[in-house]
Amino acid sequence: MTTNRFWIETLGCPKNQVDSEKITGQLHEQGYLLAENPEEADLVVVNTCAFIEAAREESIETVLGMAETKAQGARLVVTGCMAERYGSELASAMPEIDLVAGFGEDLTQVTPQRVVITLRSDTRAEPRLLEAPRLVAEGAPWNYVKVAEGCDRRCGFCAIPSFRGDQRSRSAASVMNEVEGLVSAGTKEIVLISQDLASWGLDRRASGLEGALDVLDGPAPDLQPLVHLTRAVSEVAEWTRLLYLYPSGLTENLIEAVLDTGVPYFDLSLQHASPALLRRMRRWGNAEKFLDRIAAIRASEPTATFRSSFIIGYPGETEADHDALLEFLDAAALDWVGFFPFSNEDGTYAADLGDHVAPELVAERLREVSERQDAITEAKREALLGSVIKVLVDDIGEARSTGEAPEIDGIIEVPESLEVGSFYDVRITQTLGTDLVAEAVGQR
Ligand code: SF4
Repeated sequence: MTTNRFWIETLGCPKNQVDSEKITGQLHEQGYLLAENPEEADLVVVNTCAFIEAAREESIETVLGMAETKAQGARLVVTGCMAERYGSELASAMPEIDLVAGFGEDLTQVTPQRVVITLRSDTRAEPRLLEAPRLVAEGAPWNYVKVAEGCDRRCGFCAIPSFRGDQRSRSAASVMNEVEGLVSAGTKEIVLISQDLASWGLDRRASGLEGALDVLDGPAPDLQPLVHLTRAVSEVAEWTRLLYLYPSGLTENLIEAVLDTGVPYFDLSLQHASPALLRRMRRWGNAEKFLDRIAAIRASEPTATFRSSFIIGYPGETEADHDALLEFLDAAALDWVGFFPFSNEDGTYAADLGDHVAPELVAERLREVSERQDAITEAKREALLGSVIKVLVDDIGEARSTGEAPEIDGIIEVPESLEVGSFYDVRITQTLGTDLVAEAVGQR
């Protein structure tokens, strides 16, 4: 009997990477094995990204590339955000594709219907892909765990809710089951992710879903669910890291829970500092509120690390707004920052706003904020010279401390003799841009 083989190409963010691991788990359950290369696969899957125009172009190029590479007769399936967002358009424009399938669909189906999309129209359904068994790639001692799908907010620039739907949180039992499985297989660091992580569980609680927070609801059932989850995960995993926190969701209780995990890392999704522009973005907050929170955290934990991302050139962004952002960057002294030019996305609130900022001006502002922040990040890295810190070795000669999230921040070069997956104390001896070089002091 011949075994079916599959190949999967993944584009986009960490959430897509987790989806691909779930797809891999599902295909294994259906008797498929991973092929050594796309040419030998009977089923080629492209898990696409539709975040901005550049990501969509890359997704389409990958689909076209796979169509050329795959064996004759092999099926080409397109899934992920582009499938959810532009399913019919993709199917009619690209005859190379055999099936366009939404999240959690059976990718092995042979059906005369070429487009099977569900998330948009079925937003309160249990997200099948989230609950699917997961097969993670072996190697790194850290893993993402995706705890919810979709988002209940409606930020002006963001199309995600229009194709990923409203938020549907996994139950605590399901999350903990996955966390325990990963930790017993050797994972040392769990990185919790979702579109709006700080809101995890609120949808289940509001809709009174049976088993909403089951294993977590204890003496304080009104507490923000993520506080319970953070504490529960950190009892199992050595390091627990939270990514993508909407700033109003960073409550005192959550700050305390994060600090108690021993990983004082705060990834705040701020997007801007000007109150007027934040209102146009339909988001919460202003520079003063953000600075207050950052100062409160630093008062408890001076070594806390902060990451954030900002959109440059949102419609209506004035010179005064831009200056407010520069001023905020100086005052906040964040460790890691990503700047993104505004991307006009179909179906968003911002798409209908006037006062678009000229591309040359956006480029100039991007240059200015990047230069300003690069100097801050560099100074923060240099301040670590000579200090002794705990690191987790991710790969041969490569480690991270609590101050670097995997894949997005810098790394720490360590001696190749240090064992992958183990914790060590190291002394920082050199900086290499955003990366650091360290010598071993002792094993933990
Ligand atoms: S919170 Fe994030 S995912 Fe949700 S609408 Fe805003 S930007 Fe999009």
